Amino acid sequence: MAKEELQCSFCGRKKPETNLLIAGLDAHICDSCIEQAHGIILEESKQNNVSDLSAELKLRKPQQIKDFLDAYIIGQNTTKKVMSVAVYNHYKRLLQPPTKDDVEIQKSNIIMVGQTGTGKTLIAKTIAKMLNVPLAIVDATVLTEAGYVGEDVESILTRLLQAADYNLEKAEKGIVFIDEIDKIARKSDNPSITRDVSGEGVQQALLKLLEGTVVNVPPKGGRKHPDQKFIEVNTENILFIAGGAFDGIERIISKRLNMQAVGYSASKSDNVVDQNHLLQYIIPKDLKDFGLIPEIIGRLPVLTHMDPLDAHTLRAILTEPKNAIIKQYKKLFSMDDIDFNITDGALDFIVNKAVEYKLGARGLRSLCEEILTDAMFELPSSNDKKLNVTKAYAEDKLTKTTLKKLKAVS
Ligand code: ADP
Repeated sequence: MAKEELQCSFCGRKKPETNLLIAGLDAHICDSCIEQAHGIILEESKQNNVSDLSAELKLRKPQQIKDFLDAYIIGQNTTKKVMSVAVYNHYKRLLQPPTKDDVEIQKSNIIMVGQTGTGKTLIAKTIAKMLNVPLAIVDATVLTEAGYVGEDVESILTRLLQAADYNLEKAEKGIVFIDEIDKIARKSDNPSITRDVSGEGVQQALLKLLEGTVVNVPPKGGRKHPDQKFIEVNTENILFIAGGAFDGIERIISKRLNMQAVGYSASKSDNVVDQNHLLQYIIPKDLKDFGLIPEIIGRLPVLTHMDPLDAHTLRAILTEPKNAIIKQYKKLFSMDDIDFNITDGALDFIVNKAVEYKLGARGLRSLCEEILTDAMFELPSSNDKKLNVTKAYAEDKLTKTTLKKLKAVS
């Protein structure tokens, strides 16, 4: 065949009509057919991703979701139940094919109120793990309105994209946990106060993300840069979980309950208020009085509270969850063939110290570390293959100074 007669075996273009003609065994392909084929491949893999995802998002019933949470989180039964239903409904909404009726299931974004260290982040992490969806954990305190020093709210989505390895479909069905949402509450109840950079402005900026919108996200984060290509992220199907300690909100709850009590219903004394656990009575209005704008509260329709951790719960946290701290140490030691045991007396001692020094659940880990560091240093290179931690052993390792140090860092 003469050279000028070569042509693309797919579209029939003659060689001079193409920019490039690549030869195969007994066929040729031109540059535009390669481009077209590439487009088809991309489209196909996109569709496969979506169906993979719906397979991954195994729809579990609320009871199964709660059972999964039970394996990792001690107590917090109200929150676990409320979350199970919210997550179930959220993913039901995602997997539902578009229907013709007018009933549109709205997002069930969640807000958890409770002291720090009570398991808010742990619950969000556990749910993401169960559903096998990407999770971004962001701290609301670093967010500012666009144009101010700090991170724009879009940075939340950059994190989510990173957590999803830049798989947009996955990111768009992920979970965002916004910690310390209480820190962006309006500082004063007076809305006319001079602009409040880190408070109401950020709440306004967050609103759009929460309700579902398409956002241009700089994939590498940071300030918007003219050269940086944006990725369009649709937040419609992203589940937002917010958490915060809301220090002092008990006073607001108590005031509201007292006002109700003074009224007509006071005589119906069957509703005795548990003054020590006021958080359980929280309603959306309390969040508004604390300084969240009503629109934000409306976009976080599922409100739940975390119980403070008592000694009994702390004790269970040490040994019961699937990846309980003590189980982790047992595994670490067993890798060196060391048989590690800890007595009930020692466990009670650790819990008592955590309560006495107000170290919370996070402190349990630091206490164990202090007690076990010497053994973890010495035993791997010794012939001693047994470690039995008793109360006396723990007492010996935990001096007053170390306890004071732990309290200072907690
Ligand atoms: P928060 O987000 O409320 O500040 P975290 O979820 O970060 O608290 O909890 C800190 C750590 O304490 C967790 O990683 C976990 O080890 C432990 N923890 C707290 N609450 C619980 C709980 N209810 N069950 C099991 N572990 C818990």
